[in-house]
Amino acid sequence: MPASLQLEHVVATLSCGEELRIPYWHIRSGRGGPQFLVLAAQHGNEVNGCEASRRFGRVAADALVRGDVYIIPFGNLLALRHRRSHISLKAEQPYAEDEGHNMNRTWPGDADGNDTERVSFALHQAIVEHCTHVLDFHAWSRFSATGAILRRGYEPSEALGRVSAIRFIHPGTVKKGPRGHTTLGGLLNDTARAGITIELAPQWAVVEREVRRGLRAATNIAKQLGMMEGEPEGTDAPQFYLDEVDVVEVRAEHEGLFVEASVATWDYVEVGQRLGHIMLPDTLEVVEITAPVAGYLLRFGAHRRHSDVALPAMHPYADEGDLLATIVPAEP
Ligand SMILES: [Zn+2]
Repeated sequence: MPASLQLEHVVATLSCGEELRIPYWHIRSGRGGPQFLVLAAQHGNEVNGCEASRRFGRVAADALVRGDVYIIPFGNLLALRHRRSHISLKAEQPYAEDEGHNMNRTWPGDADGNDTERVSFALHQAIVEHCTHVLDFHAWSRFSATGAILRRGYEPSEALGRVSAIRFIHPGTVKKGPRGHTTLGGLLNDTARAGITIELAPQWAVVEREVRRGLRAATNIAKQLGMMEGEPEGTDAPQFYLDEVDVVEVRAEHEGLFVEASVATWDYVEVGQRLGHIMLPDTLEVVEITAPVAGYLLRFGAHRRHSDVALPAMHPYADEGDLLATIVPAEP
């Protein structure tokens, strides 16, 4: 018998007294088991997970055999409408300039706090508190490869990372907001449950390739937890723990416009493979840029600090010394 999928709403009371209704799906297998939450868009410009979690809801509705799945595609609906990471940010303002409204520093929320804290409080009371496992979808800029962030040395969190089939695994650091609150994944891992964050790059767009990676990760986790039948997919591909590898950086030796070859973050590149060229500002000649080692592209493209929020920081005109690529060698 298929599981039941039900649309429900969490109601948060905002500081102006208005109520914000946040939609979610609750999928019940009708049998005991893990309580698995998939949440997306705590940051309003990180939207790949909205579609990945929506599709996972359809999969779970067909295939759930144990436990319950909760799907919150629009975790921070106000920030989504604001079309920026936090509801308080203005044009090109970095995330860190207002950690008080950085939703992923507000868990478990505050009923009397600012509007972001009120939203996380309502979600926590209604759903998060009852969950055993959480997958929290975020997104990095297009210059960083999709990666998973988990708590190293804490097996319940590491197990989610192994089965996610996400190529790059980043050790999570404990991040606290100004009021001592923490991240959603951190909260789960602090309380003997299991949390993982997956950053489905890029931000500001929904990209089919990334939606599929996110859907596969969520489905694999559900299978691993015995909530669905079948074997996880894609887990035979290499996975790299970034606290254990020595990466190789490729930097611009000349100032100029970096023209990217047809490669992307996450991809495998051969030694000597063309990564692009730099077009020089004086002679208009080009300098070829090639991979010094065979491996996987962890970062790619000329960019600088705050390239997640500011257009000039995303500009491909490189200064001498700017990072163009970071490669995780295929062989240590
Ligand atoms: Zn984020």
